[in-house]
Amino acid sequence: MTREASIVAAINDRKKAMLAQLRTLVEHESPSHDKSALDELATKLLDRWQGLGATTERIANPNGGDHIIARFNDNSTTQRGLVVGHFDTVWPIGTLENMSFAIDSDIVRGPGVYDMKASFVMAVTAIEVLAALDLPLPRPITFLWTSDEEIGSVTSRALIETEARDVAYALVVEPPLGSGALKTARKGTGVLQLNVEGVAAHAGVEPEKGRSAITELAHQILAVNKLARPEVGTTINVGLISGGSAANVVPAHASATVDVRISTMAEATRIEAAMKQLTPVTPGVKLEVTGRIKRPPMERTAAVAELFERAKPLASRLGLNLTEGSTGGASDGNFTAAIGVATLDGLGSPGAGAHASHEHILVSGMLERTALLALLLLEL
Ligand SMILES: [Zn+2]
Repeated sequence: MTREASIVAAINDRKKAMLAQLRTLVEHESPSHDKSALDELATKLLDRWQGLGATTERIANPNGGDHIIARFNDNSTTQRGLVVGHFDTVWPIGTLENMSFAIDSDIVRGPGVYDMKASFVMAVTAIEVLAALDLPLPRPITFLWTSDEEIGSVTSRALIETEARDVAYALVVEPPLGSGALKTARKGTGVLQLNVEGVAAHAGVEPEKGRSAITELAHQILAVNKLARPEVGTTINVGLISGGSAANVVPAHASATVDVRISTMAEATRIEAAMKQLTPVTPGVKLEVTGRIKRPPMERTAAVAELFERAKPLASRLGLNLTEGSTGGASDGNFTAAIGVATLDGLGSPGAGAHASHEHILVSGMLERTALLALLLLEL
């Protein structure tokens, strides 16, 4: 049997155990804001890594769930490889009541199954299978699993960047694109807030003394929309507005929340600068812009392209035709790519419905991609 065939066979042998583990993880609900649920899950994940002989670290996080690290082959002086995942989900506690874990032939449903509890099962199985087959890792590998990816990685960003420093590659086990394609480019994202302060007045008695914050905001929304440049990937969505206090009062306050997506750092800089330069149209009204573009784009750099070119023939040894694509969604791969690390994202299980009630993975896809992950760890 070829090495690839033995890896595939060893993974297929573990199918039942993988599904049982997946069930345990999905049934341990872990929304991004629930520290106690996240910390309990972190303990379970660390136990699993320790059972495989990893050197583990638990990074205490007073502002959210703890983050965890598992290191293999750590005494080797070769350049490290990094695998990045997260164990928080967008689903609140209690979601299981109406969206329970269910296996229906090749489909497994449940909150967070696709994004990305299956990815943890894939990572531990890849390591387990390589060890069982006596296939040594060619370099030290660090597995970093964080607790706040779904809410912007505010408490994990520095940790991700530290662990990514000087690595040979970063593999991000987020779900692939719907077609199964890996993600070699992701947009950067930011949320900016536009606050307008006008002057309140009675709308009937002395409207001329008022300065409408809502009218001003309307002008500014149109100005902000004009900053979009979809031809280079820059899109803008004023997704929330609020303002005013009563129909008969000239509104003193209004605000808008703006979602910005960019494909290059140059565009991030342009948008931030333009937003800061917005000036009021209405005399006597104050405008304030807060927030910034926090996730840099994952640009398809030469290093990213080269890593994909190395992964492709490995996948074809498994009979997989690996393709690549880009997405407007961001992940922790944006951080690793932005500091210059060759990053391959979308190495999780094929499926669909991230953040949606039809969230699911395909068992066959999970098994195939586990073999791919094992082969990448072995060959890159
Ligand atoms: Zn995710």
